[in-house]
Amino acid sequence: MQTLTFPPRQSLGLYPTPLQHLDTISARYGRDIWIKRDDLCGVALGGNKVRKLEFLLAQAKAQGCDTVITTGGAQSNHAMLTAACAARLGMQAILLLKARGVMERRGNLVLDDLYGARVRFVDTDSYDDIHAQAQQLSLDLEKQGHRAFWIPLGGSTPLGTLGYAEGVRELAEQAQALGFRPGHLVCATGSGGTAAGLFLGASRFLPEAQVHAVCVDHGPFRQITLDLAAQASDLLGCPAPDPAALTVESHVGPGYAVSAPEDSPRIRELAQAEGILLDPVYTGKAWSGMLDLLEQGAFDDRGDLVFFHTGGAAALFAMDLA
Ligand SMILES: *Cc1c(COP(=O)(O)O)cnc(C)c1O
Repeated sequence: MQTLTFPPRQSLGLYPTPLQHLDTISARYGRDIWIKRDDLCGVALGGNKVRKLEFLLAQAKAQGCDTVITTGGAQSNHAMLTAACAARLGMQAILLLKARGVMERRGNLVLDDLYGARVRFVDTDSYDDIHAQAQQLSLDLEKQGHRAFWIPLGGSTPLGTLGYAEGVRELAEQAQALGFRPGHLVCATGSGGTAAGLFLGASRFLPEAQVHAVCVDHGPFRQITLDLAAQASDLLGCPAPDPAALTVESHVGPGYAVSAPEDSPRIRELAQAEGILLDPVYTGKAWSGMLDLLEQGAFDDRGDLVFFHTGGAAALFAMDLA
């Protein structure tokens, strides 16, 4: 296995997360399907943002920051996990959340409060507005003697992207020990950092694998993912991965954070067959999109399928399945 030098990480999650073979589902769909349980990463209800935060918050600490500012939708998993991780490191989290979606005290908003975050709703449709507010807030905090670290949407910066490059290193080691070859890596995509990390990590540690980003929002995700992967490669001093190894699919359905009727039976199926919870915003859509692709024969070549469970269960307590 190739050695690469990663920047410093702050340990926050319990890694490696389990890599589980889905016996019932594999038999039912006629294909070996594995699931990488990053929903069981040991912080809050789990989730993909913790791997990114291990790199991002290591940098925040190295810069002497005592405050972390980030953003997302009202029910952002990323914001909640940032609050959880910041609290553990003794930092104040300030969440500038878009005043859109479920804003009652449900789901992740309950957890944001539990983790001691300061939540401010911003009435805008544009993350540019929020970014401007975050910059002003950082300056104000500086005048009061604080030092703030800004984490953009989803933690999807080049540094955050390294979380899943490292995650593929972990997966490759586990798969080798279990004696199988991952041929396809599938994840939900909302801001691109997870897919970009998988894509970069696969190029180094699982060069035969194809990465499938299943988009749960509208946006130029192919370009975003390629750009993030190239910038993250620069941080590691390795060449950017081959674009041919990345497939980008859309499974937005009726809209971002809107539950899709066709996904609900599949969310129920995985819960009942394997005991695993998917959420209607991210993992339920990615899982359903993956099964569509499977039925279309998109995974007929190469080795086994690995679905990255990226967390998100709190949404089940904020909204109903369609
Ligand atoms: C943020 C998130 C994603 C998407 O990951 P990105 O790196 O932002 O593309 C997927 N699943 C869940 C549960 C998330 O919270």
